[in-house]
Amino acid sequence: MISFEQPMFRPPSEANSLLVQATVGCSHNSCTYCAMYRQSNQKFRMRSEKEILQIIAENSSSSYEKAFIADGNALVLPVKLLVKTIKTIYESNENVRQVSIYGNVGDILRKKPQDLKELAAAGLDMVYIGFESGDDITLKRIKKGANKSKTIQSMKRLKEAGIKVSGMVLLGVGGKERSFVHAYETADMLSQGDPDYVGLLSLQVRPGAPIYEAWEKGEFELPDKFQILKELEIIAENTVLTNGHFFSNHISNYLPIKAIYPRDKDKTVMKIKNIIAKKAEGELRPEYYRDIVNQY
Ligand code: SF4
Repeated sequence: MISFEQPMFRPPSEANSLLVQATVGCSHNSCTYCAMYRQSNQKFRMRSEKEILQIIAENSSSSYEKAFIADGNALVLPVKLLVKTIKTIYESNENVRQVSIYGNVGDILRKKPQDLKELAAAGLDMVYIGFESGDDITLKRIKKGANKSKTIQSMKRLKEAGIKVSGMVLLGVGGKERSFVHAYETADMLSQGDPDYVGLLSLQVRPGAPIYEAWEKGEFELPDKFQILKELEIIAENTVLTNGHFFSNHISNYLPIKAIYPRDKDKTVMKIKNIIAKKAEGELRPEYYRDIVNQY
């Protein structure tokens, strides 16, 4: 029996999915705000086809309706192996209707449009991408390994291939200095890329991540609660989606929002503006609650 190597992560929305740990650790592992794999010194590696197929065989069940291919940027795997993995998941789990994966911008763009179409044809439904910001200066500072235009291009490539895009945005990651630019540029990036899902998280500065040291030295200043809400307001107001889910229900956020755009946009923006205008602390999650879990 192959056991999963820890730590292993999956998006909250994949909590009940069949998990297939096809890679161990993260292929990038450089983002300055992220301590996910740093504390355990977990070295990145790709599992072999034999291991992946054994994991699927050992964990398959008729109870699963979704499957998630983990871990950090599993889309880095060769197309042939991914196709085999996806097809085997469907063959071994008769009720699975959706297969998703973590991918980063570089790995998406390194795959040819035909490769992405092959993955879609095999049954890959959605790629989760950590966008974090649309501000190029912030992206460079946090060592994301992508810029705004490449991020937009990666969304377009996936959508053209028929694969849905779920992107994460990190409020506060530009610090006080880039806060407004980060928010406006992120809204513009989202509007141009038009993802199917936008998940907003709020930065929590944690020991083990390089940004923590910068914060301790005073080189990085975290925006306060209402500045983070202002970022949320700017992004909510300036993002145009054709038909997208706009969520800030992750536990790290002060204000949970679940909206479908464009349908709920006006009332969502109004709600955020009202809370900021009234400084309505009572409507926000307390700090201790945000601290309970720090998970992507
Ligand atoms: S944020 Fe994602 S891509 Fe960046 S180091 Fe962490 S796991 Fe890897």
